[in-house]
Amino acid sequence: MSAGAFPSGVAYDEARAIIAGVAAARRLPVATMALARAHGRVLAADVTARMAVPAFDNSAMDGFALRHADVARGDGWLELRGEQFAGGPQAPPPGPGGCVRITTGAPLPAGTDTVLIKENAEVVDGRVRVLADPGAGRNVRRRGEDVEPGALLAAAGQVLVPARLALLAAQGIDTVEVVRPPTVAVFCTGDELVEPGMPLGPGQIYNSNRELLMGLLRSEGLEPVAWPTQPDDPARIESALRHAGEAFDLVLTCGGVSAGEKDHFPALLQRCGRLHFWKVRMRPGMPALLADGGTLGPALFLCLPGNPVSVLATFLALARPLLDGLQGRAPRRVVRARLASPWHKRHDRREFLRGRLSSGDDGTLRVEPDPADGSHRMRAAADADALIVLDEGAREYPAGAVVEVLPC
Ligand code: AMP
Ligand code: MG
Repeated sequence: MSAGAFPSGVAYDEARAIIAGVAAARRLPVATMALARAHGRVLAADVTARMAVPAFDNSAMDGFALRHADVARGDGWLELRGEQFAGGPQAPPPGPGGCVRITTGAPLPAGTDTVLIKENAEVVDGRVRVLADPGAGRNVRRRGEDVEPGALLAAAGQVLVPARLALLAAQGIDTVEVVRPPTVAVFCTGDELVEPGMPLGPGQIYNSNRELLMGLLRSEGLEPVAWPTQPDDPARIESALRHAGEAFDLVLTCGGVSAGEKDHFPALLQRCGRLHFWKVRMRPGMPALLADGGTLGPALFLCLPGNPVSVLATFLALARPLLDGLQGRAPRRVVRARLASPWHKRHDRREFLRGRLSSGDDGTLRVEPDPADGSHRMRAAADADALIVLDEGAREYPAGAVVEVLPC
């Protein structure tokens, strides 16, 4: 494909469709992983329950296990005939008119069906006085009321968040089938870039995108590797990319992907690899490029523009869906909010505008667009906690209009 094949690039939705197709064809392999290391990973297979949880009827409170019929018919006194602690030896059945001291989580002794909470009981000389009828069957957690054997616990594509890990741990599961997370190399390029900590020469700037990209990738639970920053030298860039292209699943670059004299990525990837798209009709981030590495290696190359705000927007709008797709992750929840102030959209492209979220007294999520919308305005990006997604086409958005947001 020649550069001429990408005069105005692809629409954002088209780019997303291409990303989905490329990611599906490159789905990462499945690995068996210790549950203890699986936090944040995407499940590769459904997990069903091996056993009931709770595995036995047990007490929900500290108190006294009894037969409710004895409370309903008796004189309000029961014989204390033993104790049943969680994890302790099994208490004998207390029998009619009797009860057993019990702690939360302890199995209900045979014949008992109700727990009287400690606060509503008085112990006098080996007998227990019932101060308030708990009601039949109260304060008991029934076998299987949380999970029945054979129930679907977690589905392929779901992320192993802490509570989901705990649900599997409660089944005694200690290994899971997950999708191996993608390995990612991060490249920054530009003759003007200097690493923080070094003195700046005239016309030079500090490399801020590296921290941005590394942080964004780490937020996805990945362990990215940062490559030394490359000058705008096509031979040096090609050599560095060749190393990374052999060793990583994804090479994520920033800078050098527009149409300027020093933007070497489009020509390089066109010559060595196969372009899936170059230029996406979005703002910021138009020059983004996705390519197979070809002779640069088996890695996929996603090249983002250099402007820091473009990096943030293209990461959330393009790179994250690609990472999700490579791992077969289930679609993320769509978040919508009301614009807190009006916005005049002046251009045709899909927009990713910086915004601040707040939720009012009425519980409605609102987002305040930041008027500092230039793609070099890092302060606006740093202060933002969401990108506001505005559809194609110039338009007036009144305050209160419902928009999609990408929390960041
Ligand atoms: P480019 O896409 O290479 O034309 O870069 C666009 C703008 O982003 C220029 O102003 C660059 O100086 C700036 N830029 C590129 N890479 C970085 C970086 N790693 N950190 C901060 N700014 C950058
Ligand atoms: Mg540059």
